[in-house]
Parts: sequence; structure tokens; C-alpha cells
Amino acid sequence: MLYREYGRTGEKVSVLGFGGMRFAHIDDHDECIRTMLAAAEGGVNYFDTAPGYFETKSETVFGKAFAEFRRRNIPFYAATKTFATTEDAIYREVEGQLKRLNIPAIDFYHIWSITNLDNWQNRKKDGVLQAFRKLNDEGLIRHICVSSHLIDDEIKELLMEGVFEGVLFGYSAYNFKTRQKAFDAIREKKLGAVVMNPLGGGVIPQHPERFSFLQRPGEGIVAAALHFLWDHPEISVTLVGFETDKQVQEALAAIENYKPRTESELAAVKAGSNASLEGICTGCSYCDDCPHEIPIPKFMDTYNQKIFNTKAGEDPIGNRLRWHWNLDRSIAGKCTACGQCEKACTQHIDIIKRLKEIASPSAAPAL
Ligand code: SF4
Ligand code: SF4
Repeated sequence: MLYREYGRTGEKVSVLGFGGMRFAHIDDHDECIRTMLAAAEGGVNYFDTAPGYFETKSETVFGKAFAEFRRRNIPFYAATKTFATTEDAIYREVEGQLKRLNIPAIDFYHIWSITNLDNWQNRKKDGVLQAFRKLNDEGLIRHICVSSHLIDDEIKELLMEGVFEGVLFGYSAYNFKTRQKAFDAIREKKLGAVVMNPLGGGVIPQHPERFSFLQRPGEGIVAAALHFLWDHPEISVTLVGFETDKQVQEALAAIENYKPRTESELAAVKAGSNASLEGICTGCSYCDDCPHEIPIPKFMDTYNQKIFNTKAGEDPIGNRLRWHWNLDRSIAGKCTACGQCEKACTQHIDIIKRLKEIASPSAAPAL
């Protein structure tokens, strides 16, 4: 196992972390604990969960596994999160989490899921930072962290406030282009950096041909995607949401076979991605100012599903719109083809044509 410093905290964390959001059978505690033990015995010491994962059942399983780690003298760090913003609500949440996790203090506690800067300002007004600092003074949480879905200048602005010791954010070979600015702040403020969703939600292993720019001779696509992340010296931990102990063993093998790239080799890999990711919406939101209030990034994300999911008989666009975004196709039909969004698009996507196709799927060409 490789270990790195978590920012300026002095904590040494494993580059491979365990995410508790994907257990195959959450009600089979013995199986979940076995999976966590396989990781811990392989040297993983960073374990991340959240109250929302399986409606607190993930935290309960973590607590049982932590008891077993202690019995076996295996060191570990516990990371979890809260959406609560007021002092009362945060204290109630922490009380429940400490009981479920079966620990006296949470090592890395996250203000959970900042999705826009207004949301952050509102949480601050509610007193989230004061509550976190009070918990820290009382020894109930050890490090104040944030998890964020912001991109570009916005994530940099959030982190440059200098109020956190670490950040958890989505970063992978699928979306790395829109998150580079986070690293400016991570370096300047000496923050710990934990990245989640390293396989792009399954897109990378399901479409290895698109991501072959990551691979070196003999490297499998999953190992290549993890190696790419570990090549970033700023990344302290890469979280993988493990379902089974077999997956744990595969990720541990990726560590064994890891040969770090130099900075210029990593830059060459990133540059080599352009052709492979051509035509894929990266979710950067530069186009998101439509005069008719069409949520363009959401529709273009939906179109990505069509590109990545070509199985006959499925309706990837309809399913994504319905179940992920709760959007109606007809909204795409409001486009007047003014062209403003296409001028702003960082990926040069033909947004107007795709919106037309989404609005009238029967006219869609086969991919
Ligand atoms: S081209 Fe269509 S979607 Fe794009 S900004 Fe204009 S009206 Fe909105
Ligand atoms: S359509 Fe283009 S500008 Fe809009 S989110 Fe996607 S990549 Fe970014």
C-alpha cells in the first residue's frame, strides 16, 4: 500500500480508500464486514461513509467493522458527512453517527455536497462553520472538511476561503478537464484531497475503447483509471465504492502494479484524451445561460447516456430524463436555435441538433 499526507494535518492516509455507498448486500453485515476487512488487511486505512448511504445502514456496518479492526489492532480513519446546517441539528447528527460508527470521534467530518456557492453562503449563515469548529474544539470531530460538486472557478473559490483542511470531490478520467482549478487551491491551502467516482460511474470500464488513452501495455482499464488518479501528487485518497471483496483484491493488485508517471508524462496522457472524449459533454456548464431556461447541461448529460449506452431495446435518454433529472422531453423543444450555447461550449458539441433529437426521438439517427 502507498500512503500520502492528508494536507497539513499530519495524517498518513492510504491512496486507496473505501467508499461505503455500494455494498452488494447491505443487510448481510457479515459479508459487508468481510469486504471491509479485506481492504483493511490490504493496508486501506481511509473509510468513508455518509448518513444517506443505505439510510444510515452503511454507518452501522462501518461501526461493526471498526470494532473488528480494533480487536485485530488494524489502524483506520473514519470519514463521514452531514447535510445539517444549524448547531442543534449538527450535534444531533453527530451524536447518532458516533453511536452507529462506534467511535469516540470522527476523523474527517464533511460539510456534505456543496452544489453551488449560494448554497454554501446559506449554510454559513445558518452557522455550519461555528458548529463544526465547536465540535472540533470538543474533540468530537478531528478535521473539518467539505464535499463538493462544484467545478472550475467555483470549486477554487470555495476552497480558497481557507476554512477547510480537506476536500472530497468527483474526479476521474471522464471529467478531469472541468476540475483542474481545484488543484490550484489544494496546493495553495495545503488541503487533503479525496476523489470519488474514479470510474466515472461505471462509464470507464464499460467503454474501454473511449479511455484507451489511459492504458499502458499490459494495464487493465480499471487499474489504468486508478493509476491515472494516483499520478496526481495532490490526491491523497482515491475512494472506490466496493461491492465485494473480489473488487477489493483487484484494486489492491492495481497498487502492486503501479508505476508512477512523471508530471510531463501525466500531462501527455491528459492531452491525449482530446480525441477520445470528443463529443462527450463534460458537465462544465459554460453553456448554462439559455434565454429560454433550458437546462442544457442536464440534457447534454442525458445525451451522453445515448452515446455510452447503445444496447438495443433500451431508452437511455428517456430513462435518464425521467429517473435522474425528472425532466420532460418537451422542454428541449423550446430551443429557438439562437446559437449562444454552442458558442460557449468547451467541447464544441452540436447542442441544437441534440436538443432537437431529444425533443423528437423518432427523428433520431442511429449512433
Ligand atoms: S441555441 Fe437553443 S438551447 Fe442554446 S441558448 Fe439558444 S435557445 Fe437555448
Ligand atoms: S454542452 Fe458543452 S458547455 Fe455545456 S456542459 Fe456540456 S461540455 Fe460544457
